[in-house]
Amino acid sequence: MERLGRKWGQVKLPKLGWVRFRWSRPPRGTVRSATLSRQGAHWFLSLLCEDGQHTPDQHQVPDSVVGVDRGVMVAVATSDGDLFDPTFHTLKEAEREVRMRRRLSRQRKGSANRAKTKTALARLTGRVRDRRTDFNAQTAHVLCAKNSVVVLEKLNTANMTRSAKGTTDKPGRHVRQKAGLNRAILDKGWYGFKVACQNQARRTGTRIVEVNPAYTSQTCFECQHVDPRSRESQAKFRCTHCRHTDHADVNAAKNTKKRGWTNPDG
Ligand SMILES: [Zn+2]
Repeated sequence: MERLGRKWGQVKLPKLGWVRFRWSRPPRGTVRSATLSRQGAHWFLSLLCEDGQHTPDQHQVPDSVVGVDRGVMVAVATSDGDLFDPTFHTLKEAEREVRMRRRLSRQRKGSANRAKTKTALARLTGRVRDRRTDFNAQTAHVLCAKNSVVVLEKLNTANMTRSAKGTTDKPGRHVRQKAGLNRAILDKGWYGFKVACQNQARRTGTRIVEVNPAYTSQTCFECQHVDPRSRESQAKFRCTHCRHTDHADVNAAKNTKKRGWTNPDG
């Protein structure tokens, strides 16, 4: 890698050779690897650097554990009862996105108008993605600063790749795949959250534990009774056995915490 001037640098990448890039900020530390990514019309070069920063041997608040649930009602719910619920999409933006997608489906493949709609759509989804990234970083920071162990639901990666293949806009197939696609989008958001937690954990010495999330939302935290009917509504949990009630996502987060605590490696 070398610098060409005040604004430009160039880097030699495998298979691509020398690539010029806009020198947006100086790398801190020794460059270990480079990654190219595209967002809409723009390409980004990310450099992974060894910054010499070390992870503390012990967390400032030892023996503090929190369970985190990928909520249905909120984005993130914790076993402490905290609900992190950001707005990634404002109502207006959601409506605009639906309108643009509808327009896109009517526009002829390869037409100039279709390209225009695509660019506008990419700009909108890019904004939503940026907000999600901010949310992930901030929430991960709060959780890792407060806790020496953060227990997360383990993602089903097999599911993720299978539904990701369903990204097609052929009519007919679209409807059937929509449910799977929505799930994939949620999973991707959760993956980003996990990465954000791992990044924060390097600074605080927090240990990130992943557990199998099966039945965490149907299990009563108080008496361990499992019944899908205990999930009275999206938001409310009321045990059909012992009548214990809680916010449905918080109850799930408490179960997640318990699983990570009793079985830290599974
Ligand atoms: Zn119960």
